[in-house]
Amino acid sequence: MQGLMMGTQLLISTLIEHAGRHTGDTEIVSRRVEGDLHRTTWREVQMRSKQLANALLAMGVRPGDRVATIAWNGYRHLELYYAVSGIGAVLHTINPRLHSDQIAWIVNHAEDRHVFFDITFLAIAQGVASRCPTVASWVQMSAREHMPADSVGVEPLCYEELLAAASSRYVWPSFDENTASSLCYTSGTTGNPKGVLYSHRSSVLHAFGAAMPDAMGVSAADSVLPVVPMFHVNAWGIPYTAALVGCKLVLPGPALDGRSLYELFENEKVTFSAGVPTVWLGLINYMKQNGLAFSSFRKTVIGGSACPPAMIRTLNDDFGVEVIHAWGMSEMSPLGTTCKLANKHLSLPRDRQTRILERQGHVIYGVDMKIVDPDGKDLPWDGAAFGDLLVRGPWVMREYFKGDGGDPLVVDDDGLAWFPTGDVGNIDADGYLQITDRSKDVIKSGGEWIGSIDLENIAMAHPDVAMAAVIAIPHPKWDERPLLVVVKKPGSTVGKDELLAHYEGKIAKWWTPDDVVFVDAIPLGATGKMLKARLRESFRDHRLPTA
Ligand code: AMP
Repeated sequence: MQGLMMGTQLLISTLIEHAGRHTGDTEIVSRRVEGDLHRTTWREVQMRSKQLANALLAMGVRPGDRVATIAWNGYRHLELYYAVSGIGAVLHTINPRLHSDQIAWIVNHAEDRHVFFDITFLAIAQGVASRCPTVASWVQMSAREHMPADSVGVEPLCYEELLAAASSRYVWPSFDENTASSLCYTSGTTGNPKGVLYSHRSSVLHAFGAAMPDAMGVSAADSVLPVVPMFHVNAWGIPYTAALVGCKLVLPGPALDGRSLYELFENEKVTFSAGVPTVWLGLINYMKQNGLAFSSFRKTVIGGSACPPAMIRTLNDDFGVEVIHAWGMSEMSPLGTTCKLANKHLSLPRDRQTRILERQGHVIYGVDMKIVDPDGKDLPWDGAAFGDLLVRGPWVMREYFKGDGGDPLVVDDDGLAWFPTGDVGNIDADGYLQITDRSKDVIKSGGEWIGSIDLENIAMAHPDVAMAAVIAIPHPKWDERPLLVVVKKPGSTVGKDELLAHYEGKIAKWWTPDDVVFVDAIPLGATGKMLKARLRESFRDHRLPTA
């Protein structure tokens, strides 16, 4: 027997309709690549998304076509989020920090029909256009006065002119909620990038999940500034969640330095933010150097790589900002776990609570997880046993775009299909996950595993350390041993012995790194993560003193 409820499909267009109709005058503020600050509202974004939908249809975009963006966080990018998916086409967000060869490869693999780019990325468009035969048109996201005089290689259309010529009368079509809505390529450190193809259903359910109190916990009372780019897993779904709850949205454009961010946080009374650990370093440094405080900022999600406990402490104790440590991946839309205390934790002493909050957290309804041994057998949730982390749920990927990436799922003894995350972790008795490593970064010493994240977190707690990475170095006796790679804070004279002494009493002695090297910078990938594969390559011939 079927239920007798309306079969309204969970479509991304329902989010912008909701925000436009019910929180229409709530502001959306964008720092534009043109340099100024732009103000609009959910109602206006709703209207302009419809104009853009008509413009896209006039350009010949059909359901299923891929329409790409190379753009910062801004209102025009937001309009593309809603218009492209809204008409049934697929929004392909491209990471501009990738090498042009990778961008060309991705555009060709996705068979993008149209590419929309910010003024600052004209050179990228010019650099790849001749290698992208599927692209029928390139559109610069600006008004006529900012169009390039010299557009060698591409003859871009003008975004504002396309909109001006289009009607704002449009009724979003209804179609199956499992239709593809957007596409994002994971920047694997080896092999070709792989496409993750989200659906309307997965995106809307993820937006619900993200809004929940124990996840991001955002509401209409918030002013939300996603530092995480809209080209990194849909800015962790914030453009959708913000419409769902009808909050104010503050989009920082290209200005991600400490000073620009601080000004925006203060001027727009930002209450909530989200970003990878490395983005907070610049902001914290700028504020410390200038003796500044936040007047409205209260809460941030940090994820994408392990957030060092020292950073959680600094944001908490020095700046009054609650950190929600989160874990996820592109293949999970991306949210899997977020770390908030449960009722039973409220009576614990502060240091016990702090230790819980350093973990990656508890799953959000919709995601299930488990850890397994190398034979695929379930491991206990005791906070000690660690193994490969598997996940499943309605916003977890089942297959890469075009099947390129093989069949990623594994099926357990109960016949349930799981996605192996490639992460290694433990789960405590309350269901709180701790990621100990990416499986390829684990250090295998004498048949035992050493988790590099723990070792990095300890180094990051030293006052002279600006950034730390721990990598495996081949060892004649132990197979592999840890090497600590450190960027010192400016002016610091800290040496190897002091840093190694800093590990005493904090971990098993045999986990202590065998050596320390100081570098000017640790290479970061296109989404701000440490490129450990490249570090391992650089230090391949490093001779450990114990070898
Ligand atoms: P991506 O798909 O590029 O977002 O990368 C996902 C990967 O980032 C995960 O599989 C983890 O290895 C890593 N990651 C994300 N969040 C965290 C976190 N809070 N702690 C540790 N690793 C994380």
